[in-house]
Amino acid sequence: MTWSTLEDTRRIAAELRLPSRAFIDGAPAAARSGALFETLNPATGAVLATLPLCGADEVDRAVAAARRSFRDGVWSRATPERRKEVLLRLAGLIRAAAPRLAVMESLESGKPVSDCLKEIGGEVPDFFQWYGEAIDKSYGDVAPTGDAACALIMREPIGVVGAVLPWNFPLLMAAWKLAPALAAGCSVVVKPAEETSLTTLALAELAIEAGLPEGVLNVVTGPGETTGRLIGQHGDIDAVSFTGSTEVGRLFLQYAGSSNLKTVGLEMGGKSPFIVLDDAELTPELIDHAVTAAFWNAGQNCSANMRQIVPRRLQDEYLARIVDRLQSLAPGDPLDPATGMGPMISAGHRRRVQAHLERGRAEGARLVHAGRVDPALAAGSYLAPVVFGDLTAGMSIAREEIFGPVLGTLPVDGMDEALAVANGTEYGLHATVFTRDIDRALHFARRLSCGTVAVNGFTEGDVKTPFGGWGKSGSLARDKGREAMAQYQQVKTVWIGLKTPVDRRAGGAA
Ligand code: NAD
Repeated sequence: MTWSTLEDTRRIAAELRLPSRAFIDGAPAAARSGALFETLNPATGAVLATLPLCGADEVDRAVAAARRSFRDGVWSRATPERRKEVLLRLAGLIRAAAPRLAVMESLESGKPVSDCLKEIGGEVPDFFQWYGEAIDKSYGDVAPTGDAACALIMREPIGVVGAVLPWNFPLLMAAWKLAPALAAGCSVVVKPAEETSLTTLALAELAIEAGLPEGVLNVVTGPGETTGRLIGQHGDIDAVSFTGSTEVGRLFLQYAGSSNLKTVGLEMGGKSPFIVLDDAELTPELIDHAVTAAFWNAGQNCSANMRQIVPRRLQDEYLARIVDRLQSLAPGDPLDPATGMGPMISAGHRRRVQAHLERGRAEGARLVHAGRVDPALAAGSYLAPVVFGDLTAGMSIAREEIFGPVLGTLPVDGMDEALAVANGTEYGLHATVFTRDIDRALHFARRLSCGTVAVNGFTEGDVKTPFGGWGKSGSLARDKGREAMAQYQQVKTVWIGLKTPVDRRAGGAA
């Protein structure tokens, strides 16, 4: 399989068998009501697939299957070696299916197919492999007691997990949740975003092929207000892991409070800064990182660093270099392996982004660059990169998450102002800082109020490093790293009282 031409990906697209049903108790399932919803291709606006709109009946069936499999112990009490074997096999199956899954994801999300292949051929299976490898190396603790007791601290799977996913990295977000949840021994009911259900459904089929017992992984499809809410309010789900907007994350806390007080892990929005200190050199590498930080995935990225904080004296040069670099980032057909930027997820989302941009202009942000979309792409929900200068911290465009292809500079005078502006938001997901001075780098790393700080390069880390937000960006829960397992485990203390040893040998001391 080569990825050199559009013909290759079009051929795969033409041969794809797209899932058309939910996945409950090890088998494809329709909605008993017969209700359906459509998934559109954002690059063309055409209907791509029709899927069941899962209501209470399907969510109840999925939760019952998950509960049964959890109680039976077919997975929750399977040996660590067995769980490892299945997850490693799943990683291998995903790698083998990556070209097909990448085209499927590109069609439903509008993401460039090269990005999809990089994620689905790399990071996604790596997650199943890493957590699969971790299971038989996870130990509990023995507490420091005196001789009169032995206290064990054990970690057990939390039970039935509901995973509710966003559309911006469909299979990657599924892997971030499912790999540690399954490794921990949980059974899962996952709801992909209604825009991007197909690859998660395909993953469930691969999981069965890998040997995951029926009922352990269920996928219910449908809109958030229906299917997502039913998961949030379900009385027999023990924990929900959610990634999405802060607004909906808030609802999940309410659902838990008004149902069974399930545990809720939240990964939410952001308004992350990219900070260039005055000793940094504006090298092509720095500009590449600045552009990736703001425009990767067309800016539809929770950790998008769209607030770029630069020394006032460097702002004009910085903006000129950014605009120059953007000449090679025009939106294009996501199925073309050469495309670096696809459309917005939907026409509705594009309108929301445009409204943010219009408000920014009305509030006095200086429009520096507005790219253009090739008229041949008019049927899709495309939006070209936009760059603003002279943002001020109070402007809504500098405070609210936009989730689109926009970069804005906030000029500052000195390090203290840079730090104050960087921290001047209610979010706290990510930050990047560029400096050649290690003291300054560590000073910023310590003072920035967020879950991840990247120094001299935009990155979210990898499978080994925890990822999550502070403030309105998240709860204490973390995806990735050893910390992710904690979301899916209960801690149990076993206190064993011991009698003082008695010497049973006649007449002798111990
Ligand atoms: P969203 O909150 O609209 O939807 C996320 C999920 O919640 C979807 O599955 C949706 O169907 C469901 N949902 C929507 N309304 C619901 C309701 N009333 N009740 C229950 N479920 C409901 O978010 P989105 O537009 O899909 O994704 C974009 C958001 O996700 C952005 O805010 C972004 O920052 C965030 N995000 C965060 C991370 C992270 O790790 N922190 C990663 C990716 C995306």
